[in-house]
Amino acid sequence: MQYRCPKCQSPKIMPIAQAGAAAPRPNVPKSLVFLIPLIFILLILVLISIIMWIFGNGAGSTLQSATVVVFILSVIAGFLFYRDLPDFKISMQGFMQNQKKWKCRECSHEWEL
Ligand SMILES: [Zn+2]
Repeated sequence: MQYRCPKCQSPKIMPIAQAGAAAPRPNVPKSLVFLIPLIFILLILVLISIIMWIFGNGAGSTLQSATVVVFILSVIAGFLFYRDLPDFKISMQGFMQNQKKWKCRECSHEWEL
């Protein structure tokens, strides 16, 4: 199994759809689908809070409670994702093994396993 470009040894490779065959996709757990936007929102809220602390007289109570709620939801989603992780790993490995055609993002070299 080769996860690097055979030409330039770059690990920045991406799968390309095989003609005829339906593109195999790993099963992305729902918890991850929730976790990523939640972390993103959390980062934005924390950033806004910091800016308000610097330029204003502290973050508003609405903003503070929103940050706490998003933080709690992120922790829950993170915990659920942690439980889904073994299944996700297996599904991801299956995907990597079924995928035969790859393309390098560094040098655009394409190869087949
Ligand atoms: Zn390459």
